[in-house]
Amino acid sequence: MRILRKIKGIEIKRFKPIVLEFHRVLPEKLITKTSGYFATETVISQNYFEKVLFYLKKEGYKFVTVAGLLKEDDINKCVALTFDDGYYDNFAYAYPVLKKFNATATFFPVVDVCRENKVLPLDIYYQIVEEMGLSEKERTEYYKGNIKKKFYWSEPKSQIEQLKEMFVSFPDKMVVSYMNAMQLKYLSDNGFEIGSHGLSHSILTADYMNEQKVTEELKNSKHWLEAITGKPVVTFCFPAGRYNEKIIELVKAVGYTSTCLVNRDAKIPEVIPSYQRINVKQDSFKELKNSIKNIERERTVIGRYYNRLKYRTDKMIYKIS
Ligand SMILES: [Zn+2]
Repeated sequence: MRILRKIKGIEIKRFKPIVLEFHRVLPEKLITKTSGYFATETVISQNYFEKVLFYLKKEGYKFVTVAGLLKEDDINKCVALTFDDGYYDNFAYAYPVLKKFNATATFFPVVDVCRENKVLPLDIYYQIVEEMGLSEKERTEYYKGNIKKKFYWSEPKSQIEQLKEMFVSFPDKMVVSYMNAMQLKYLSDNGFEIGSHGLSHSILTADYMNEQKVTEELKNSKHWLEAITGKPVVTFCFPAGRYNEKIIELVKAVGYTSTCLVNRDAKIPEVIPSYQRINVKQDSFKELKNSIKNIERERTVIGRYYNRLKYRTDKMIYKIS
Protein backbone atom coordinates (compact mmCIF):
# COMPACT_ATOMS: atom_id res chain seq x y z
CA MET A 1 0.00 0.00 0.00
CA ARG A 2 2.83 2.36 0.95
CA ILE A 3 4.69 1.57 -2.26
CA LEU A 4 1.52 2.15 -4.23
CA ARG A 5 1.02 5.53 -2.59
CA LYS A 6 4.65 6.35 -3.27
CA ILE A 7 4.28 5.50 -6.94
CA LYS A 8 1.10 7.53 -7.07
CA GLY A 9 2.97 10.48 -5.53
CA ILE A 10 5.61 10.33 -8.21
CA GLU A 11 2.96 10.05 -10.88
CA ILE A 12 1.22 13.20 -9.63
CA LYS A 13 4.49 15.05 -9.72
CA ARG A 14 5.46 13.82 -13.18
CA PHE A 15 2.10 14.22 -14.84
CA LYS A 16 0.85 17.65 -14.08
CA PRO A 17 -2.93 17.77 -14.19
CA ILE A 18 -4.78 20.63 -15.84
CA VAL A 19 -6.10 22.95 -13.12
CA LEU A 20 -7.92 26.08 -14.24
CA GLU A 21 -8.34 29.22 -12.13
CA PHE A 22 -11.41 31.44 -12.23
CA HIS A 23 -12.64 34.33 -10.09
CA ARG A 24 -15.85 36.05 -11.17
CA VAL A 25 -18.33 34.87 -13.81
CA LEU A 26 -20.98 37.34 -15.03
CA PRO A 27 -23.45 37.67 -17.90
CA GLU A 28 -21.85 39.76 -20.66
CA LYS A 29 -24.19 42.71 -20.05
CA LEU A 30 -23.11 43.00 -16.41
CA ILE A 31 -19.40 43.22 -17.20
CA THR A 32 -18.17 46.80 -17.22
CA LYS A 33 -14.91 47.42 -19.05
CA THR A 34 -14.07 50.17 -16.56
CA SER A 35 -14.11 47.85 -13.54
CA GLY A 36 -11.10 46.71 -11.50
CA TYR A 37 -12.04 43.09 -12.13
CA PHE A 38 -11.93 43.61 -15.89
CA ALA A 39 -8.58 45.46 -15.63
CA THR A 40 -7.00 42.72 -13.51
CA GLU A 41 -8.52 39.90 -15.62
CA THR A 42 -10.50 38.38 -12.78
CA VAL A 43 -13.89 38.33 -14.51
CA ILE A 44 -15.12 36.35 -17.50
CA SER A 45 -18.51 36.21 -19.18
CA GLN A 46 -20.93 33.38 -18.63
CA ASN A 47 -20.91 32.72 -22.40
CA TYR A 48 -17.15 32.44 -22.47
CA PHE A 49 -17.24 30.12 -19.45
CA GLU A 50 -19.69 27.92 -21.33
CA LYS A 51 -17.41 27.93 -24.38
CA VAL A 52 -14.48 26.74 -22.23
CA LEU A 53 -16.52 23.92 -20.68
CA PHE A 54 -17.87 22.90 -24.10
CA TYR A 55 -14.31 22.64 -25.41
CA LEU A 56 -13.08 20.59 -22.43
CA LYS A 57 -16.01 18.20 -22.68
CA LYS A 58 -15.56 17.81 -26.44
CA GLU A 59 -11.86 17.01 -25.91
CA GLY A 60 -12.84 14.20 -23.57
CA TYR A 61 -11.73 15.68 -20.25
CA LYS A 62 -13.19 14.37 -17.05
CA PHE A 63 -14.09 17.09 -14.53
CA VAL A 64 -12.77 16.37 -11.04
CA THR A 65 -12.32 18.35 -7.84
CA VAL A 66 -8.82 19.22 -6.64
CA ALA A 67 -9.13 16.69 -3.79
CA GLY A 68 -10.46 14.20 -6.33
CA LEU A 69 -7.23 14.36 -8.35
CA LEU A 70 -5.53 12.26 -5.68
CA LYS A 71 -8.05 9.48 -6.16
CA GLU A 72 -7.72 9.26 -9.93
CA ASP A 73 -5.51 6.53 -11.41
CA ASP A 74 -4.98 8.42 -14.65
CA ILE A 75 -5.03 12.18 -14.32
CA ASN A 76 -3.94 12.81 -17.91
CA LYS A 77 -7.47 13.43 -19.10
CA CYS A 78 -8.72 15.12 -15.93
CA VAL A 79 -9.38 18.80 -15.46
CA ALA A 80 -10.01 20.57 -12.16
CA LEU A 81 -11.90 23.87 -12.27
CA THR A 82 -11.23 26.20 -9.34
CA PHE A 83 -12.94 29.42 -8.23
CA ASP A 84 -11.17 31.83 -5.89
CA ASP A 85 -12.69 34.15 -3.26
CA GLY A 86 -16.30 32.88 -3.17
CA TYR A 87 -18.15 35.58 -5.14
CA TYR A 88 -21.92 35.22 -5.25
CA ASP A 89 -21.80 35.28 -9.06
CA ASN A 90 -20.15 31.83 -8.89
CA PHE A 91 -23.40 30.53 -7.47
CA ALA A 92 -25.70 32.57 -9.69
CA TYR A 93 -23.92 32.24 -13.05
CA ALA A 94 -21.13 29.62 -12.96
CA TYR A 95 -23.08 26.94 -11.10
CA PRO A 96 -25.92 26.68 -13.71
CA VAL A 97 -23.35 26.21 -16.48
CA LEU A 98 -21.44 23.62 -14.44
CA LYS A 99 -24.72 21.78 -13.88
CA LYS A 100 -25.54 21.89 -17.59
CA PHE A 101 -22.23 20.15 -18.36
CA ASN A 102 -22.50 17.84 -15.38
CA ALA A 103 -19.13 19.22 -14.27
CA THR A 104 -17.81 19.40 -10.75
CA ALA A 105 -15.45 22.09 -9.41
CA THR A 106 -13.67 23.38 -6.31
CA PHE A 107 -14.61 26.68 -4.65
CA PHE A 108 -12.22 28.59 -2.39
CA PRO A 109 -14.26 31.11 -0.39
CA VAL A 110 -12.75 33.79 1.84
CA VAL A 111 -14.41 32.86 5.14
CA ASP A 112 -14.85 36.25 6.87
CA VAL A 113 -16.76 37.86 4.00
CA CYS A 114 -19.01 34.81 3.45
CA ARG A 115 -19.70 34.38 7.16
CA GLU A 116 -20.38 38.03 7.92
CA ASN A 117 -22.08 39.09 4.68
CA LYS A 118 -19.32 41.60 3.97
CA VAL A 119 -17.07 42.41 1.01
CA LEU A 120 -13.29 42.66 0.79
CA PRO A 121 -11.68 46.10 1.14
CA LEU A 122 -10.38 45.55 -2.40
CA ASP A 123 -13.98 45.36 -3.67
CA ILE A 124 -14.73 48.73 -2.06
CA TYR A 125 -11.53 50.15 -3.58
CA TYR A 126 -12.51 48.93 -7.06
CA GLN A 127 -16.05 50.27 -6.80
CA ILE A 128 -14.97 53.73 -5.56
CA VAL A 129 -12.41 54.04 -8.37
CA GLU A 130 -14.90 52.90 -11.00
CA GLU A 131 -17.50 55.42 -9.81
CA MET A 132 -15.02 58.32 -9.77
CA GLY A 133 -15.34 58.94 -13.50
CA LEU A 134 -11.58 59.04 -14.14
CA SER A 135 -9.74 58.89 -17.45
CA GLU A 136 -8.58 55.46 -18.57
CA LYS A 137 -4.97 56.30 -17.70
CA GLU A 138 -5.86 57.44 -14.18
CA ARG A 139 -8.04 54.40 -13.64
CA THR A 140 -5.33 52.00 -14.80
CA GLU A 141 -2.92 53.62 -12.36
CA TYR A 142 -5.39 52.99 -9.53
CA TYR A 143 -6.00 49.39 -10.63
CA LYS A 144 -2.46 48.35 -11.43
CA GLY A 145 -0.04 51.00 -10.19
CA ASN A 146 1.86 51.51 -6.97
CA ILE A 147 -1.11 52.77 -4.92
CA LYS A 148 -2.87 49.47 -5.57
CA LYS A 149 0.27 47.45 -4.77
CA LYS A 150 0.73 49.19 -1.44
CA PHE A 151 -2.96 48.74 -0.62
CA TYR A 152 -3.02 45.08 -1.70
CA TRP A 153 0.01 44.19 0.40
CA SER A 154 -1.17 45.82 3.63
CA GLU A 155 -3.05 44.11 6.44
CA PRO A 156 -6.79 43.72 5.68
CA LYS A 157 -7.60 45.44 9.02
CA SER A 158 -5.70 48.57 7.99
CA GLN A 159 -7.11 48.63 4.46
CA ILE A 160 -10.41 50.21 5.54
CA GLU A 161 -8.47 53.01 7.26
CA GLN A 162 -6.46 53.52 4.11
CA LEU A 163 -9.65 53.78 2.06
CA LYS A 164 -10.92 56.50 4.40
CA GLU A 165 -7.68 58.43 3.93
CA MET A 166 -7.62 58.00 0.15
CA PHE A 167 -11.23 58.66 -0.82
CA VAL A 168 -13.87 61.18 0.21
CA SER A 169 -16.88 58.88 0.35
CA PHE A 170 -17.77 55.22 0.32
CA PRO A 171 -20.39 53.62 -2.01
CA ASP A 172 -23.92 53.54 -0.54
CA LYS A 173 -24.50 50.08 -1.91
CA MET A 174 -21.94 47.53 -2.98
CA VAL A 175 -22.34 45.95 -6.41
CA VAL A 176 -20.45 42.82 -5.46
CA SER A 177 -21.46 40.19 -2.89
CA TYR A 178 -20.28 36.80 -1.66
CA MET A 179 -21.83 33.39 -1.20
CA ASN A 180 -23.34 32.71 2.21
CA ALA A 181 -23.17 29.58 4.38
CA MET A 182 -26.35 28.13 2.85
CA GLN A 183 -25.10 28.51 -0.70
CA LEU A 184 -21.74 26.97 0.16
CA LYS A 185 -23.50 24.06 1.84
CA TYR A 186 -25.75 23.63 -1.21
CA LEU A 187 -22.71 23.37 -3.48
CA SER A 188 -21.04 20.94 -1.10
CA ASP A 189 -24.19 18.78 -0.90
CA ASN A 190 -24.28 18.69 -4.70
CA GLY A 191 -20.85 17.16 -5.15
CA PHE A 192 -18.71 20.30 -5.36
CA GLU A 193 -15.60 20.67 -3.24
CA ILE A 194 -15.32 23.54 -0.79
CA GLY A 195 -11.69 24.35 -0.05
CA SER A 196 -10.30 27.22 1.99
CA HIS A 197 -8.82 30.55 0.88
CA GLY A 198 -8.22 31.69 4.48
CA LEU A 199 -10.22 33.97 6.77
CA SER A 200 -9.42 37.49 5.62
CA HIS A 201 -7.49 37.13 2.33
CA SER A 202 -4.32 38.06 4.22
CA ILE A 203 -1.31 37.29 2.07
CA LEU A 204 0.43 34.63 4.12
CA THR A 205 3.98 35.73 3.20
CA ALA A 206 3.35 39.45 3.87
CA ASP A 207 5.40 41.39 6.45
CA TYR A 208 2.40 41.82 8.77
CA MET A 209 1.96 38.03 9.18
CA ASN A 210 3.56 35.69 11.70
CA GLU A 211 3.30 31.98 12.47
CA GLN A 212 0.38 32.42 14.84
CA LYS A 213 -1.62 34.51 12.37
CA VAL A 214 -0.92 32.09 9.52
CA THR A 215 -2.07 29.15 11.67
CA GLU A 216 -5.27 31.01 12.58
CA GLU A 217 -6.03 31.72 8.91
CA LEU A 218 -5.49 28.06 8.02
CA LYS A 219 -7.19 26.46 11.01
CA ASN A 220 -10.16 28.72 11.72
CA SER A 221 -11.23 28.92 8.08
CA LYS A 222 -11.03 25.12 7.83
CA HIS A 223 -13.14 24.66 10.98
CA TRP A 224 -15.90 27.06 9.91
CA LEU A 225 -16.19 25.52 6.45
CA GLU A 226 -16.24 22.02 7.93
CA ALA A 227 -18.96 23.04 10.38
CA ILE A 228 -21.23 24.39 7.65
CA THR A 229 -20.62 21.65 5.06
CA GLY A 230 -20.30 18.72 7.48
CA LYS A 231 -17.36 17.47 5.39
CA PRO A 232 -13.58 17.59 5.80
CA VAL A 233 -11.98 20.59 4.10
CA VAL A 234 -8.71 19.30 2.66
CA THR A 235 -7.57 21.77 -0.01
CA PHE A 236 -6.06 25.18 0.66
CA CYS A 237 -5.60 27.90 -1.95
CA PHE A 238 -2.96 30.55 -1.17
CA PRO A 239 -4.27 34.15 -1.33
CA ALA A 240 -2.41 35.89 -4.17
CA GLY A 241 -0.70 32.52 -4.71
CA ARG A 242 2.01 33.40 -2.18
CA TYR A 243 3.63 30.76 0.00
CA ASN A 244 7.00 29.63 1.34
CA GLU A 245 8.57 26.53 2.83
CA LYS A 246 7.46 27.26 6.40
CA ILE A 247 3.88 28.05 5.34
CA ILE A 248 3.45 24.88 3.33
CA GLU A 249 4.64 22.89 6.37
CA LEU A 250 1.97 24.63 8.49
CA VAL A 251 -0.67 23.88 5.84
CA LYS A 252 0.22 20.21 6.10
CA ALA A 253 0.33 20.27 9.93
CA VAL A 254 -3.18 21.78 10.08
CA GLY A 255 -4.49 18.83 8.05
CA TYR A 256 -4.79 19.94 4.44
CA THR A 257 -3.77 17.33 1.87
CA SER A 258 -3.31 19.51 -1.22
CA THR A 259 -2.84 23.14 -2.19
CA CYS A 260 -3.46 25.39 -5.17
CA LEU A 261 -0.82 27.85 -6.30
CA VAL A 262 -0.43 30.41 -9.03
CA ASN A 263 3.25 29.91 -9.87
CA ARG A 264 5.37 27.16 -8.44
CA ASP A 265 8.61 28.08 -6.71
CA ALA A 266 10.99 25.27 -7.76
CA LYS A 267 13.14 25.84 -4.65
CA ILE A 268 10.28 24.97 -2.28
CA PRO A 269 9.83 21.21 -1.72
CA GLU A 270 6.41 19.85 -2.55
CA VAL A 271 5.50 18.36 0.85
CA ILE A 272 1.89 17.83 -0.25
CA PRO A 273 0.56 17.82 -3.84
CA SER A 274 0.46 21.46 -4.96
CA TYR A 275 -1.10 22.44 -8.23
CA GLN A 276 -0.03 25.30 -10.40
CA ARG A 277 -3.00 26.76 -12.25
CA ILE A 278 -3.88 28.37 -15.57
CA ASN A 279 -5.75 31.64 -15.04
CA VAL A 280 -8.65 31.79 -17.49
CA LYS A 281 -8.98 35.26 -19.00
CA GLN A 282 -11.88 36.69 -20.95
CA ASP A 283 -11.79 35.95 -24.70
CA SER A 284 -8.35 34.36 -24.72
CA PHE A 285 -9.31 30.97 -26.02
CA LYS A 286 -6.16 30.51 -28.10
CA GLU A 287 -3.97 31.31 -25.09
CA LEU A 288 -5.89 28.83 -22.95
CA LYS A 289 -5.58 26.06 -25.54
CA ASN A 290 -1.84 26.72 -25.83
CA SER A 291 -1.36 26.60 -22.05
CA ILE A 292 -3.19 23.26 -21.90
CA LYS A 293 -1.13 21.85 -24.82
CA ASN A 294 2.06 23.02 -23.09
CA ILE A 295 1.26 21.09 -19.90
CA GLU A 296 0.32 18.02 -21.90
CA ARG A 297 3.58 18.12 -23.86
CA GLU A 298 5.55 18.27 -20.58
CA ARG A 299 4.38 14.72 -19.92
CA THR A 300 6.62 13.14 -22.58
CA VAL A 301 10.38 13.39 -23.13
CA ILE A 302 9.98 14.56 -26.74
CA GLY A 303 7.29 17.03 -25.67
CA ARG A 304 9.52 18.52 -22.99
CA TYR A 305 12.34 18.87 -25.55
CA TYR A 306 9.93 20.52 -27.99
CA ASN A 307 8.74 22.96 -25.28
CA ARG A 308 12.32 24.05 -24.42
CA LEU A 309 13.14 24.52 -28.11
CA LYS A 310 9.92 26.44 -28.70
CA TYR A 311 10.61 28.64 -25.67
CA ARG A 312 14.08 29.50 -27.01
CA THR A 313 12.82 30.22 -30.53
CA ASP A 314 9.97 32.37 -29.23
CA LYS A 315 12.46 34.32 -27.12
CA MET A 316 14.70 34.85 -30.17
CA ILE A 317 11.77 35.98 -32.31
CA TYR A 318 10.72 38.33 -29.52
CA LYS A 319 14.24 39.80 -29.37
CA ILE A 320 14.43 40.31 -33.15
CA SER A 321 11.00 41.89 -33.53
ZN1 LIG B 1 -8.05 35.41 -3.82
